[in-house]
Amino acid sequence: MEKRIFIYTNNTEMSQSIEKTLRKKLLKTDLRVFDEYEADNTDLIICIGGDGTLLRLVQEYNFPKTPIVGINTGHLGFFQEILPEKIDDFIFLYNQGKYSIQSLNGVTAYVKTNGCTKKHTALNEITVKGLMTHPVHLNISINNSFIERFSGDGLCIASPAGSTAYNYALGGSIVDPRLNLLQVTPIAPMQNVAYRSFTSSILLPSNDKLTVIPCSANDTTLTVIYDGMMSEYENVEEISIYLSRKKINLIRFDDYQFWEKVKSKFL
Ligand code: NAP
Ligand code: MN
Repeated sequence: MEKRIFIYTNNTEMSQSIEKTLRKKLLKTDLRVFDEYEADNTDLIICIGGDGTLLRLVQEYNFPKTPIVGINTGHLGFFQEILPEKIDDFIFLYNQGKYSIQSLNGVTAYVKTNGCTKKHTALNEITVKGLMTHPVHLNISINNSFIERFSGDGLCIASPAGSTAYNYALGGSIVDPRLNLLQVTPIAPMQNVAYRSFTSSILLPSNDKLTVIPCSANDTTLTVIYDGMMSEYENVEEISIYLSRKKINLIRFDDYQFWEKVKSKFL
């Protein structure tokens, strides 16, 4: 049966040349490539690049519901399922329906300033930092109950999908994406008699709300980073962060196993 495909490619020479090869191969199949993405009318998105390219696709198309498969031409390619030399296998397995869907939820932040609220959703993580090199001083609540005062470089709030990205570099834990939780990891927390907070990650169940409130008027200029994209805010009143209901659906072939993938990319 005919399927409608949308291809999203980064601008490296390698990715562009893989796209050409892919298009040639698809001409001999029932998979038709369309140049515009139509949410209700596309069966598959093929993303050519690295993890960063997938993150950009997810932002640009606002967490498309259409299944996505990645061809890795990047450096790491943790999200990406196919190696460029395996395109024929991919076409064969896809046509046979021999794959499963891995659903990955994002993280959403609501940033309240002067009574107006802005929303950002990231697939990997929301990071809250100060301006330039300034440390942050934030009161942290879980479900509106005060937990701690945090002082340090910032906080990284990661989805399970993001647990292997910045979160891991910060000493956070790798989370099997079948566990739906939020991981809150401190970035360079101060530990002295003036400032004290948790030094390890804390894990929150999927429905919980994390709120950060600047400790004083001097602490209200903050940057919110969502999957590497940055917005600067002044006069922040509070930032509430949740595991998002938005998710993406990645295609994984039958030999995919999360911990095997982790092993091959990290050890
Ligand atoms: P980048 O400069 O390419 O560096 C980010 C690295 O993390 C790349 O190797 C990327 O893979 C990899 N990566 C991205 N998402 C991942 C995931 N879910 N699991 C495992 N590895 C992942 O930047 P980018 O490609 O635009 O990625 C943006 C991400 O960079 C942010 O969401 C944040 O997680 C991460 N970051 C990491 C650090 C750090 O480790 N100290 C600092 C800031 C930001 P590819 O090579 O395939 O792109
Ligand atoms: Mn990258």
